[in-house]
Amino acid sequence: MDSVTTLPLVVRPKLVGRMAGGEPSWRRALAGAVRNVGELCEILGISPEIPQPQAADFPSPGEFPLLVPREFVARMRSGDPRDPLLLQVLPTGAELQSTSGFLADPVGDGAAEVLPGLLHKYAGRVLLITTGACAVHCRYCFRRHFPYEAAPKGLAAWAPAIEHIAADESIHEVILSGGDPLTLVDETLAALAERLAEIAHLKRLRVHTRLPIVLPQRVTSELVDWLTGTRLTPWMVVHANHANEIDGDVAAALGRMIDAGIPVLNQAVLLAGVNDTVEAQAELNERLINLRVQPYYLHQLDRVAGAAHFAVPVERGLEIVTELRRRFPGYAVPLYVEEVAGGASKQMIV
Ligand SMILES: *Cc1c(COP(=O)(O)O)cnc(C)c1O
Ligand code: SF4
Repeated sequence: MDSVTTLPLVVRPKLVGRMAGGEPSWRRALAGAVRNVGELCEILGISPEIPQPQAADFPSPGEFPLLVPREFVARMRSGDPRDPLLLQVLPTGAELQSTSGFLADPVGDGAAEVLPGLLHKYAGRVLLITTGACAVHCRYCFRRHFPYEAAPKGLAAWAPAIEHIAADESIHEVILSGGDPLTLVDETLAALAERLAEIAHLKRLRVHTRLPIVLPQRVTSELVDWLTGTRLTPWMVVHANHANEIDGDVAAALGRMIDAGIPVLNQAVLLAGVNDTVEAQAELNERLINLRVQPYYLHQLDRVAGAAHFAVPVERGLEIVTELRRRFPGYAVPLYVEEVAGGASKQMIV
C-alpha cells in the first residue's frame, strides 16, 4: 500500500482561496495518523503484551503496517485490549500463521482485472482501483496483498480504463474503489467524475469508501458537489463494522451526504471478536437505519492470508442473520454474502 504522504495533491489556482490555510483538515489528520503500535497502546493505556510481531519478524513490515487516524482511536475504549475498534487495526502475531485455504488473492481479483486497476467481474458495472492508499489499515482486508503499485494513479494514467469503459456499452455503473478513493483530493475526483459523465451509456457513479466513518471531516462540501454535480446518479457505500464507529461527527457527515440526495449504504464484514454477536449486529443496524443508512451487505470474511483469526463459521453467521430478521424490518437486515472467485455476483449465504 502507498503511504498517505505520497498522495497526489492537485490544487487548481482558483481553489487555493477556498482551501485557506493550505491542506484540508482531513489531509492533515491522515498525515498525523498513528503508525506505531507502542504509541497506540500508550494512548489507550493498554500494555502491548497482546501477541504482536516486532517489525523485524513481520514478513514484510513495509507492506501493511499499522495505520489509524487519531479521530478513530478516540472512539476506542481506554484500557480495553479487546475493544472492537482496536481489534480491527492492531497488528498481532496471529497474522503470521499461515492457514490452509487462506490465500493472497482469495476473491479472484487478478483474473477479473481487464486492465491494470480495472476489475470487470459482474454484469453492468466495473470497479476502478483509483489508489492503493487507505485512511486506516484494516487487518482483515482482502486486498491487503493486492499489487497496488501496478495500478494506475491519476487522470492521465486512468485514460486506458476510461477508454475501455467508453467502448463497452454494457457498462452502466463505475465503482470507485481502492484502497480508498476518498484519500484522493476532491479536485482529482471531480475531474474523474466529469470525464466519466461524458460517457453516454454510463448512468451511475458509486463510491466504496471507509473514509466518512474513519475521518468524517472528509465529507467536505467539495466532495458533495462533485458527487452530485454531474448527470450520473451517485451512490455511496460506506464501511462500518461496529456501532461504536459511528459517533456524532460520523452521523453528521452521513447526514450531509443524504441531505444532498446521495443514497448511502453500509457494508460490514463479519469478524470474530468484533461483531460476531446478535447484539453487536443489532446495535450497528439500529444505528444505521436511524441515520437513514441502509445496511447493504454483511460479508463473510474473504479467506485472505493473515486474517484466519477473524473467521466466523457460516453457521454462526446464519444464526445471527436469522435472529436479526426476527427483530428488524426487512430493510434493516443486510444481505449475508460471500465472494466466490469466478462467481457472476456476490453469493447469498442461506
Ligand atoms: C463487490 C464488487 C462489485 C460490486 O458488487 P455489487 O453486488 O454490485 O455491490 C463490483 N465489482 C467487483 C470486482 C466487486 O468485487
Ligand atoms: S477494508 Fe477498505 S479501508 Fe480497510 S484496508 Fe481494506 S481497502 Fe482499506
